[in-house]
Amino acid sequence: MKITKIDVFQVSSPDNPVWRPVLCRVYTDKGIYGDGEAAMAYGVASAGAFGMVQELANLVIGMNPLENEVIWQKMYRSTFWGQNGGGVFTAAMSAIDMAVWDIRGKYFNAPLYTLLGGKMRDNLRTYASQLQFGWGDTMKDMLTVDDYVRSAKKAVAEGYDCIKIDFFWYKPEGGRYQEDDQTTLLDPKTLEVVVERVKAVREAVGPYVDIIMENHSLTDAQSAVQLAKAVEPYNIYYFEEPNTPDPHTAQYISEKTNIPIANGERIYTRWQYTKFFEKNTIQVAQPDIGNCGGITEVKKICDLAYIYDVAVQLHACGSPLSTAAALHIEAAIPNFIVHEHHIINITPANIRLCKYDYQPVNGKFKVPDLPGLGNELSDYVLKESKKVTIEDNKLAW
Ligand code: MG
Repeated sequence: MKITKIDVFQVSSPDNPVWRPVLCRVYTDKGIYGDGEAAMAYGVASAGAFGMVQELANLVIGMNPLENEVIWQKMYRSTFWGQNGGGVFTAAMSAIDMAVWDIRGKYFNAPLYTLLGGKMRDNLRTYASQLQFGWGDTMKDMLTVDDYVRSAKKAVAEGYDCIKIDFFWYKPEGGRYQEDDQTTLLDPKTLEVVVERVKAVREAVGPYVDIIMENHSLTDAQSAVQLAKAVEPYNIYYFEEPNTPDPHTAQYISEKTNIPIANGERIYTRWQYTKFFEKNTIQVAQPDIGNCGGITEVKKICDLAYIYDVAVQLHACGSPLSTAAALHIEAAIPNFIVHEHHIINITPANIRLCKYDYQPVNGKFKVPDLPGLGNELSDYVLKESKKVTIEDNKLAW
């Protein structure tokens, strides 16, 4: 079997201009196709990922999609920029790799979790993620303490027993906190706003709901330690991205707080993860299948985490295709902790990007049983997106 053609898509969302998913469909000479995603839908790297997938598509035309390791190694070693490649590079690798695994699953008529070694669990505990945007089919800014309590209670009423909030994203008066507000040492009034939100949510949900505190790397090591110490009485499940991902400062923070530290959505490949594992500076690893090197690489990172007793919660903030890919790996690894269900995944604008709409029930997800990823790009993506088709291998390096 040979890869014959790759379509690369960039979706635009008029109602949400910062949401621009990058997706691809890989075709073969046997009539089987597979879909993948470079998970850079948000932020300002989407155009880079869209271009990078096209570059790598050139390279893999003519290769056998059943040989995922051979393809991965070619993308990493035969491109000059693959080694120690940044997020845009490994996101593009991820898109091709995900599509290749989808093809493998369809070829062997097996769901991905079977190819990964088998399903270790049928139900995946799932958390409602990013409640600073509310919890519903449209994202809204949560400003007051009551806003946080209301969205937390809504998620819990739907059956979630774990929620994640960035309590330090919006100011009470509206608008986002800026770098000067969040780094170096925090002033007492700012700290008080954040702690009051945490305290109110803990009191509202009671002692048996896990609360993940997210900070999107916006605090630094000093302010993260201040914040962690201030919220320790409220039993935080883990503290996600307390600062710029870096093994040295992660160690500094983890030595100063008893809250477990999570990191990963901006850490790429085995080579970067191993530096966090060696000294147990993180307790939860959060690799993103769509930016960290794909299924081939993330499975290895999960296995590496296991030997250090590090739990895995895959970062998932993309189209429903990335959700499906994450569920397969999380079902097939021993060190799974909880699945992330981002609010974007309950919005109609994102749900329409794929053929099937899988949602958790009572805070539990089931992994798709169809061959391959078990989901695929919708007609909306195929017809309404910016598309570039690659059919020639022009970039032999
Ligand atoms: Mg995060």
